[in-house]
Amino acid sequence: MEFQPPRGTDDLLPPVSDAMLGLYEAAHRTARLYGFRYVETPTFEHTELFARTSGETSDVVTKEMYTFEDKGGRSLTLRPEQTASIVRAYLAHAHDLPTPFKAYHVSQQFRHGRPQAGRLREFRQFGVETIGSAAPPADVEVIVAGDRFLRGRGLRQVELRVNSIGDAECRPAYREKLIAYLEPHQAELDEDCRTRLRTNPLRVFDCKVDGQTPLVLGAPLISENLCQACGEHFAAVRNGLDAASVAFVHDPRLVRGLDYYTRTTFEFVSQALAQAQAALGGGGRYDGLAEVLGGAPTPGIGFALGLDRILMALREEGATLPGELGIACFVVSIGDEASRVGARLVGDLRDAGIPAAAAFEERPLKAQLKMADRSGAAYAVILGEREVATGTATMKPLGDGDQEEIPIGDVVNWLSRTDWAAER
Ligand code: AMP
Repeated sequence: MEFQPPRGTDDLLPPVSDAMLGLYEAAHRTARLYGFRYVETPTFEHTELFARTSGETSDVVTKEMYTFEDKGGRSLTLRPEQTASIVRAYLAHAHDLPTPFKAYHVSQQFRHGRPQAGRLREFRQFGVETIGSAAPPADVEVIVAGDRFLRGRGLRQVELRVNSIGDAECRPAYREKLIAYLEPHQAELDEDCRTRLRTNPLRVFDCKVDGQTPLVLGAPLISENLCQACGEHFAAVRNGLDAASVAFVHDPRLVRGLDYYTRTTFEFVSQALAQAQAALGGGGRYDGLAEVLGGAPTPGIGFALGLDRILMALREEGATLPGELGIACFVVSIGDEASRVGARLVGDLRDAGIPAAAAFEERPLKAQLKMADRSGAAYAVILGEREVATGTATMKPLGDGDQEEIPIGDVVNWLSRTDWAAER
């Protein structure tokens, strides 16, 4: 039996799990602050959902899906992302939901890529979706919420990049223009880039090598070929970000390859991480997605932020990680009488909402103090024979500081007055 988890997955254990939990809690707080409602969809879906929405040519579909057949012979897939599932769920229950429907999730995604730093096969995302509004303030709200989440965690070296990729009105003509520009130079492009030119021309800007060549850098830009409605939408989004004092740069080469993406695209990039891991998250408008699933036309916009990457960026920037969430105290008792008093004290502390624990078996003082230290507690509350005889408890800080002896009846109050969560 192997003790290591499968390749590309992680066991999250203290203190990393505490830091991740801190990110989850911050995600819930931020999302609720903006009126997004928590949703959960199944971990696996009919394969068709992702086959349709990811496009038959995208990497996610061709290489990275965890697809399996269930006992009924249906093809199912572990979700590689959440937007398709949330839009599907919205279409299934639209009558019971408000419009616009503002949803958020904090959940695992699964992609069978080649594992490397910042690229896992199971990873965690925080995402929001606003479904049912095409108005620029919906775009602004989503972007501002993402920006607030990242900056609120202490990240400073993050650049927000924004672009517009037009819609069904202006993109077809632009696509022709782009193809007409690149086609005569096909021989200069590598194979990957040539394939994209045929299947998904906008994604030529994403090509690893050729994307940086003078040829591609000189190509016509979608944001300079927008129809009037898309141009006005983009201006309104930029003005909205300015009004919210959210700094951004216009990146005219930030594109998304699939047809159902429209207008706004954006990305949060860490300048503290190597380029391959620098994308902390991003999103955009997907006004054509509901129709791809066979639903009524329903506009939408959202983001997905990679929490594993955000933790990496926080570490790299030397930011304070969300704290260890240890217990307030570990009750150490020596002897039968002290054990009884200690068990009552642990119960009283928990009733008062103060996290507390104690050993399950009789152990020498030194062993119990070691357990206290390893438990992540801020204090050891020592109940020895002397303490029991005098009705006191010794409060021993497990970080810095001097110990103190107080009446046992005061322990609950004493700990509730102490900022124990910050003691370590
Ligand atoms: P995407 O859904 O591809 O737009 O990804 C959104 C964010 O999720 C990315 O910017 C990354 O931060 C994160 N992410 C995507 N794929 C992975 C992966 N394989 N491992 C870890 N994080 C990922």
